[in-house]
Amino acid sequence: MTDSHEHNFAGSVKPKNFSLSLVLGFVVFFSILNLQYTAPIIPIFGFHGIIEIKNNAPDSYSGEMHYSKYEIEKFLEKLIINKYWFLTSQELYDFFLTKSRKIPDAQYKKKPIMISFDDGYKTVYTNLLPILSKLENKYGTKVKVVLFINPGSLATPGSSDTTHLGCKELREGLKKGFYDIQSHGLNHKDLTKLNRRDLVKELVQARTELRICTQDLDPDQQVASHFAYPYGAYNQEVESFVSKYYLSSYLYNNEILNYGCFKDHYQIPRLMINRHNTAKELIDIAETFYPIDNRNLHQGKC
Ligand SMILES: [Zn+2]
Repeated sequence: MTDSHEHNFAGSVKPKNFSLSLVLGFVVFFSILNLQYTAPIIPIFGFHGIIEIKNNAPDSYSGEMHYSKYEIEKFLEKLIINKYWFLTSQELYDFFLTKSRKIPDAQYKKKPIMISFDDGYKTVYTNLLPILSKLENKYGTKVKVVLFINPGSLATPGSSDTTHLGCKELREGLKKGFYDIQSHGLNHKDLTKLNRRDLVKELVQARTELRICTQDLDPDQQVASHFAYPYGAYNQEVESFVSKYYLSSYLYNNEILNYGCFKDHYQIPRLMINRHNTAKELIDIAETFYPIDNRNLHQGKC
């Protein structure tokens, strides 16, 4: 269950496995010119599972959308050293989309970024969580990651499901302050293909089940306040229903968020990451963007 294709309002579909080449071209262009790129931009990276193998494993390996734990550790460590601000979905919403809260002084001159993982793979617990703990011990920085979860696919207690994580693992990551748990629909259905009744069920029951799992750890009910469309698939009706139950929603479309002129909180772009993207490439994309300051926060060019 990956999000390797995407629909838009016109119903067109982008090519499968659309690469990051355009984004990288953009990065290289600005690097060569050595321009100070001050557009109000936040890169939002979209991962799936985190695997043991190296990224250059043979192409016959079927986990195309998963990412090497060795590469992600390099990537996250570099982001910590370079003073990134790892945003939660609520922070992105408050500080950058609605601008309803003032950015704390301590965060000025930091570079905002979001790291997200879809579909609730168990490896986000077995392989990623230890890396996050290790980096916190080494640098004193907590890397927050956003998990878009389908509660219908969660492993049940005592089950032999080794693919997906369960409520217990979600709670552990939340309790430690690493996981920002958000909704990806109940059963990872293409929402554009459902009747209204089933669409509402996918949206509401997902939120209910995620909050039941986490309620005692989440007094402000921030869990399942934001949404990511399964397969990145949406249309006007889907967006309209999602807006009744969630504050914002994320695409999977290989575009970068320009929050200066961003109007639709239900079409937040994300970059699609697969195992062919090296840590170095991801760092190059992130490093192109300058820290937030008053100028780019309030006078974004559109
Ligand atoms: Zn998904």
